[in-house]
Amino acid sequence: MNSESLKMLRWRYAIILRFGLRLYINMTLCYDLHSHSNASDGVLEPAELVKRAHSMGVNVLALTDHDVLDGIEEARNTAIPLGLVLVPGVEISVSWRRRVIHVIGLNIDVENSALLQGLTGLCEKRQWRTIELGKRLEKVGIMGAHKGAVGLSKGRIVSRTHFARYMVDQGYVRDFKAAFKRYLGQGKKAYVDCEWATLEEAVGWIIDAGGQAVIAHPARYKMGRGLFNEFLSIFKASGGCGIEVISSSHSQQEIMTMAGYAQQYELLASVGSDFHEPTGRWAELGRMAVLPSHCVPIWQGWEQAQRVRRA
Ligand SMILES: [Zn+2]
Ligand SMILES: [Zn+2]
Repeated sequence: MNSESLKMLRWRYAIILRFGLRLYINMTLCYDLHSHSNASDGVLEPAELVKRAHSMGVNVLALTDHDVLDGIEEARNTAIPLGLVLVPGVEISVSWRRRVIHVIGLNIDVENSALLQGLTGLCEKRQWRTIELGKRLEKVGIMGAHKGAVGLSKGRIVSRTHFARYMVDQGYVRDFKAAFKRYLGQGKKAYVDCEWATLEEAVGWIIDAGGQAVIAHPARYKMGRGLFNEFLSIFKASGGCGIEVISSSHSQQEIMTMAGYAQQYELLASVGSDFHEPTGRWAELGRMAVLPSHCVPIWQGWEQAQRVRRA
């Protein structure tokens, strides 16, 4: 073998080794790409959330608060000395065919003006919805809910979760489930119809901000097969590239169904606990099922794994 072909062979081995190593590291890290802090409706400060994720063995965590990016800087500053990679994210509220859909943006530029402008518009709608929700709850005998929910949100964005917390605390309902089932869920007594972003807008803002758009907890929307196929086609055509195959709200059967859709539509598979607070009501950070082996993980090709090793 001459020296030229030996050089070529060495070079090939180096590439294979580097690629293989990155793949191995990516496969063995613990990813949790869906979580909430008290910048939206979670209860932990962003810094506490990151520390908890670290103690649970999470290596790569996405903070994906509802329609706000306020917690990301604090989360990132806490993550760096811990050697945990913080993926800047968001969970955008979308209205599609009279349903509310959540679209996650991962690895977004938090200073992107199109995204910030879009999210500001959603927050204004949310403020209107909060007032309206309080009024409707009063009409059915639940007093002081607006003030109570705003108080629980500590001046940050107010979601239905805060209303549910208030109702449980005040003894109006037994638990969260009952609050949504009787009052806050779609079509229930106090439900307020709100026009959030369109699917195309949300995906467009995420792409504009250099991120990847992912459908959050897809099994929760209870769409029939035909409608869900239509939804996936439009999502994909708009530039969406991922789907949460693993979500704490998915059963094993739903995981397999979503893995099938991911394959059919060539969508990358994401994994997220949707952690909100450290009680039994929500899933724990990093404690999720394993992705089915035929799924292509959304983190394939991410540089994060390299950064974890260097930290
Ligand atoms: Zn959600
Ligand atoms: Zn969520």
